[in-house]
Amino acid sequence: MGLGKVAGVGVEERRLISEIVSRVLKSVDVSSIGIRSLNLKPFEVLVAVILSQKTNRENVRKALESFRKEFKSVEEVASARVSRIERAIRPAGLWRMKAPRIKLIAKQVSKLENGLDEILKLPYPEAKKALSSMKGIGPKTADVFLMIARDEQVLPIDTHIFRVMRRLGVAGEREDYESLRVKLESAVEPEMRMTAHLALIEFGRSICKARNPRCGECPLAELCPSKVKA
Ligand code: SF4
Repeated sequence: MGLGKVAGVGVEERRLISEIVSRVLKSVDVSSIGIRSLNLKPFEVLVAVILSQKTNRENVRKALESFRKEFKSVEEVASARVSRIERAIRPAGLWRMKAPRIKLIAKQVSKLENGLDEILKLPYPEAKKALSSMKGIGPKTADVFLMIARDEQVLPIDTHIFRVMRRLGVAGEREDYESLRVKLESAVEPEMRMTAHLALIEFGRSICKARNPRCGECPLAELCPSKVKA
């Protein structure tokens, strides 16, 4: 990717992001991460994105399997009691928060004439706007959904990526979601964005952890102003 100035992101900053992503890609293995092999329907992808919040992949897989056994259509979820959804997704944790959200989204999706397929046909800005206008779906959920459901070449920013980029000085304290997404996307080739997204999350989970970051074994230590000295 060329390193000219893009959308307010300077050359040096893009070079730094590019170096960070390249080192992270070399340090974590993301080959077995992802849910695409499960052949999910669009609504199930959306449910998987919600289930994945604040839990690990194994718990998401278990909860998703149980959810798919219990519910066969969006309409069934929309009309189900919240307690039934809670039971189905229990392995994912935070079910009291996630179940009403899934029901709320199901109710809105069930009102779309052609379900989520209708949104998946739209260009990215319109699709994201349509998704984000639904209650219970924010910009990150919309981006992750589009990335998985139709290979949209976005780089969604989650809490781990935010933390890593703040520590590295790429994200300011008041940086918002869209601004950081555009910054990272300006330095990462479109076809590498999903891999970079997964790798940065894994890096945040395993090395640049919220508590006790493992700076002593971090491949970014020499670039990092927040490095904790051993
Ligand atoms: S040096 Fe420490 S704080 Fe900086 S990116 Fe690495 S693990 Fe995170």
